[in-house]
Amino acid sequence: VGARNDRVQGRSGRWVGHREPRNHLLEVLTPVEWASVEPLLDRVDLTAFQTVELPGEVSPWLHFPESAIISVVNIMARGREVEVGTVGNEGMSGLTAWHEAEADDNHSVCSAAGSTLRARASDIIAVASQHPAIRRLLGRYSGAYLTLVAQGAACNRIHGLEQRCARLLLMMHDRLTGSHVLLTRGSLSVMLGVPTSGATLAIRALRGHGVIRASRERVDIVDRDGLERLACECYLVVRDRFATLT
Ligand SMILES: [Zn+2]
Repeated sequence: VGARNDRVQGRSGRWVGHREPRNHLLEVLTPVEWASVEPLLDRVDLTAFQTVELPGEVSPWLHFPESAIISVVNIMARGREVEVGTVGNEGMSGLTAWHEAEADDNHSVCSAAGSTLRARASDIIAVASQHPAIRRLLGRYSGAYLTLVAQGAACNRIHGLEQRCARLLLMMHDRLTGSHVLLTRGSLSVMLGVPTSGATLAIRALRGHGVIRASRERVDIVDRDGLERLACECYLVVRDRFATLT
């Protein structure tokens, strides 16, 4: 109970000036844990389409996004791409480095520009060896991320394009501060794993339901409840899983 109280107090203003992290994993650290982690972090801005991790390489950096969103994209031999994972302010990118695993062929790329807190994976691993609660937190995050990937695999196979597009917009909306999402049809087509024409159809269908307004590079959510009703169940499964971490 004591530790829990520390965490709650931590949210109510112990941060100093601009160093307050806007990342849910960092927000739940106790003051002692935060004091160990804070000096390791640099706040950097990611631009849209900036590479975070190349296929076949393990980035030495972990990112704890604040307003940025990072997409993990699988590229098939013939060049078709589909998003298989995503990391926003609920999480951390760089699980391969964190687990000290071998490189895979996925490409991590910034899909929504914004700020992130970056640290060397080796530094966070060293700190976590001294603070078992940090190791457990990031272990539990890894488990939740596996749920996201597994649910995404099932969703891509079973649920319809319109439902999946609604889910994706809700997930992005949860991680941003405004009511709009900056998103090109090209990015959306990669996220959904369909040609650009398919992404356009999905947006048009949602617009027809009156839940969004959309231009070429921007989607405004005008009826959040309506959008939730149109999304598949996968949205709540994944959201609730991440909610257990904080
Ligand atoms: Zn689904």
